[in-house]
Amino acid sequence: ADTALHQAKDAGGNQSVFFDARMGQWVAERFSLEQDLRRGIEAGELRLYLQPQVDAHGRMVSAEALVRWQHPQRGLMGPVQFIGLAEESGLIEPLGQWVLEQACAWLGRLRTLGRPLPISVNISPHQFHQADFSQRLQQVLQRHEASGDDLMLEFTEGVVLRQVEQVIERMGFLSGLGVRFSIDDFGTGYSSLSYLKTLPIHELKIDRSFVQDAPHNPGDAALVAAMLSVASLMQLRVVAEGVETEEQAAVFRRHPGALMQGYLFGRPEPAEALLARWLSAGEADHGA
Ligand code: C2E
Ligand code: MG
Ligand code: MG
Ligand code: MG
Repeated sequence: ADTALHQAKDAGGNQSVFFDARMGQWVAERFSLEQDLRRGIEAGELRLYLQPQVDAHGRMVSAEALVRWQHPQRGLMGPVQFIGLAEESGLIEPLGQWVLEQACAWLGRLRTLGRPLPISVNISPHQFHQADFSQRLQQVLQRHEASGDDLMLEFTEGVVLRQVEQVIERMGFLSGLGVRFSIDDFGTGYSSLSYLKTLPIHELKIDRSFVQDAPHNPGDAALVAAMLSVASLMQLRVVAEGVETEEQAAVFRRHPGALMQGYLFGRPEPAEALLARWLSAGEADHGA
């Protein structure tokens, strides 16, 4: 290290040494977070949160699973703080498996209680491309007596563009179990739309960036209208992501069948809390 330092100084400055030190610190922090995550998954520190997806009348018709991590020192962490790390370290496999287990356990319970509610689960590229993904998912459904009809898998466009043959084969198999597929962050992927006709896609989620500016920006409004029309012509379910204001909701209420998800209707919250309300609302419907 000493020699390297002298060499760097000789080379004309401290720049690269400083950079190396920062790199070292960054690598160390990442490594320790990775160790924490590995241990945390085993120790039961992941939490399943759900966010409602509502129709034009604000009624919940389904929910999206959004993972959280209750870190012993850092507190409750959102997925942007650890999903990338999980992807790169291979921990996305146990993490993704955990989320699927939890979601399917709820699906089984909700069916048994006579109050089924479809749940969408985010699937990352590595997870979907792991060799036994389909078989494992089938086993999870069976283990929890959950119906594939209640499960939607969300992918970004990047996932469906790699290894297309394998994706077609896998989606075909899972479709046979009733599982449906959604394109997340639709409109941000720089890709051609041809996959919409080659793959069994059932839903488009219009990215929050378009939704939030649609009421005031004519460009965003035009793109939203185009996406709604693609969805309607191809008979796809459509969900507007990140609806925060009544003005934004008004854009989508005009379109029959468009669903909405966003803080205006409910923030992500622990699954038990949201589903306890869902179940008790059902009792109220049937009672007195
Ligand atoms: P996403 O799938 O696009 O999820 C939507 C994100 O927008 C969520 O962030 C949600 O909390 C947030 N959101 C919802 N409504 C609003 C709103 O009205 N305003 C704003 N500003 N944001 C809103 P979150 O929970 O932090 O998740 C971020 C991303 O992490 C997700 O984006 C998804 O790509 C990924 N992710 C979450 N859970 C999982 C998981 O279990 N597995 C994998 N592979 N990825 C996950
Ligand atoms: Mg999503
Ligand atoms: Mg999204
Ligand atoms: Mg998004």
